[in-house]
Amino acid sequence: MRAFDYHRPTTLKEAVSLLRKVEKAKPLAGGQSLIPSLKLRLSDVGALVDLGAIEEMRGIKLEGGTLIVGALARHSEVAGSKDAAVSIPTLARLADGIGDRQVRNLGTIGGALAHNDPAADYPAAVLGLGATVNTNKRAIAADKFFTGPFETALKPGEIVTSVSFPLPKRSAYVKFRQPASRFALVGVFVSESMGGVRVAITGASNCVFRAKNMEKRLAEKFAPEAIAKVKIAPEDLNSDMHASAEYRAHLITVLAQRAVEAAIAGK
Ligand SMILES: Cc1cc2nc3c(=O)[nH]c(=O)nc-3n(C[C@H](O)[C@H](O)[C@H](O)COP(=O)(O)OP(=O)(O)OC[C@H]3O[C@@H](n4cnc5c(N)ncnc54)[C@H](O)[C@@H]3O)c2cc1C
Repeated sequence: MRAFDYHRPTTLKEAVSLLRKVEKAKPLAGGQSLIPSLKLRLSDVGALVDLGAIEEMRGIKLEGGTLIVGALARHSEVAGSKDAAVSIPTLARLADGIGDRQVRNLGTIGGALAHNDPAADYPAAVLGLGATVNTNKRAIAADKFFTGPFETALKPGEIVTSVSFPLPKRSAYVKFRQPASRFALVGVFVSESMGGVRVAITGASNCVFRAKNMEKRLAEKFAPEAIAKVKIAPEDLNSDMHASAEYRAHLITVLAQRAVEAAIAGK
């Protein structure tokens, strides 16, 4: 790995300008994904633009019917946020279940979304709640944000500034952990709101996706038995040393029923 520069701007404007001017510059947030990938020589950067001192990208607030989470909110901050606990408790619980204490104390929601690991938890919440990802340039609907494994709709140099979550009537997230990493072998996020029912699956495929066949059944009847026989075709799912595609398909139906049960019980 060659040497690279390090910048720590204090405003968003300055960060955007650095990313535009410096060749192969990359934003750095919690460093929980980017630093290991640099160490393993999987990434090559010209400069790191550390976003950590940009105050305007911090904070978690409830505004009307929307929970706005700053891109620099650490997983532990979302887990401990009173506003998140009263408005979308599922989101606080999901954040509390990410990785280990160190990862939660450093990792940020903006970094997790920009990284878009196929087994990450936040993409399921963002897609499962129909949230909007705000950047320095535009607002991107969740349905358009996640475009592939480790790929998003972000353009080079575009910075995630916050995420706007509409408040659901009820929701739940159930994850079957990969025991070593604690990433999702399969994770299912279910929500019911004025806009309808959403079911988002992470960990099972190469990118988070919506189970529209389950959403249809749950819109008719929001009950676990409504989806007991709904299957996701294993052909499109991951098969690896941890679980076969058939096992992941089975898990999706089981976990989705548990998520609906938990949403009804308010757990
Ligand atoms: C041991 C371990 C266990 C983990 N377990 C889990 C788990 O169970 N579930 C889970 O979901 N995740 C897990 N993670 C990942 C963790 O949540 C990371 O925090 C997250 O993936 C990246 O966030 P970060 O803030 O550290 O971003 P960084 O590592 O700093 O950056 C990641 C990428 O996003 C870009 N980026 C960062 N911020 C922005 C921004 N605001 N705008 C645009 N681009 C940006 C960077 O340039 C980089 O490409 C784990 C990580 C580790 C190391």
